Amino acid sequence: MTAFLDIDLDAIIANWRLLAQINRTGETASVVKADAYGLGAARVAPALAAAGCKTFFAAHLAEAVALRPLLPGVRILTLNGLTPHAAADFVAHDIIPVLSSLHDIALWRAEAHGLGRALPAVLHLETGLHRLALDAREVASLTEDPALLAGLKVETVMSHLINAEVPEDPRNQRQLAAFLAFAARFEGARRSIANSPGSFLGPAFQLELTRPGAALYGLNTSPLQPRKLHPALRLVAPILQIHDIEAGESVGYAGLWTARRPSRIATIGVGYGDGLLRSLTNHGVAYFDDTPVPLVGRVSMDLATFDVTDVPAMPGSLLVLLNDRHGADELGQEAGSIGYEILTSLGRRYQRRYSGG
Ligand SMILES: *Cc1c(COP(=O)(O)O)cnc(C)c1O
Repeated sequence: MTAFLDIDLDAIIANWRLLAQINRTGETASVVKADAYGLGAARVAPALAAAGCKTFFAAHLAEAVALRPLLPGVRILTLNGLTPHAAADFVAHDIIPVLSSLHDIALWRAEAHGLGRALPAVLHLETGLHRLALDAREVASLTEDPALLAGLKVETVMSHLINAEVPEDPRNQRQLAAFLAFAARFEGARRSIANSPGSFLGPAFQLELTRPGAALYGLNTSPLQPRKLHPALRLVAPILQIHDIEAGESVGYAGLWTARRPSRIATIGVGYGDGLLRSLTNHGVAYFDDTPVPLVGRVSMDLATFDVTDVPAMPGSLLVLLNDRHGADELGQEAGSIGYEILTSLGRRYQRRYSGG
């Protein structure tokens, strides 16, 4: 027996369409890194391409190469930049690296020189995250010495917001202003700064290209959303066994939960090895029909236990871990984490069932 992960491609398409519709100034890309946040890039990305998405962001070259045959005729970029010796593979597979250092630029420039033709370039400019990007001094050197970009056509410049989830955070405006000042040095380049929550900050942030990921998959990242996004996931697990225990008996490793009354404990075959984070120990919730049932005791690798004393559950009954009412956002909160981590932790052992697309 296993658990079932139902992935609704139509919901993902509807979320992309909503983002494209509110995007008043430019194109709406799709971020499909980390296997489309765990939902399966090989199914998700072609469905989005068929719906009209023309630009896709992966993180790594290997992710992009796997997608290339599935996505003819669209742009595929990688966010994590160039690795040494990889430039030729980017060209061979028609993948554009986001360049985030002078070293990246030098490698890409050398590749263009070797090919004897111009290559498209996308530059990531630093505005506050201090992760992967060209800082102010590097941007200045690019404008002072145009030879550094010889053979490269800067088609897009981008940056990344540090806290777009909080629209009133003044750092959003400060990052935008810094970005626009940098971007002005690259005439004709498209500008992109908005992730999912940034996409809801309005046209000033939407610019020529937005880069939502989380919102496509139904995570609710912004208080400015017109409505909740379509939940794209349902995760259900059949109960393997039910045990009747006495008050005072404990459940699970280290006995971290003790029954205060005679209790019925249901075990499902989903554990932290499947992405049911161990921090859900004594905090997670599943649903039996419309009733929440608490996760009790420590989450193990392949199993987890729930108190079903108050519901008429039987072995074989389904417990719902993720659905439209209790989504990855909620489970993430119960785990002391975020929906992003719930999604990208989704295990390989589920029976995946795709619908729509
Ligand atoms: C992951 C990522 C995104 C997408 O972010 P979401 O919050 O999932 O929309 C966009 N841009 C960059 C640079 C990223 O790393």
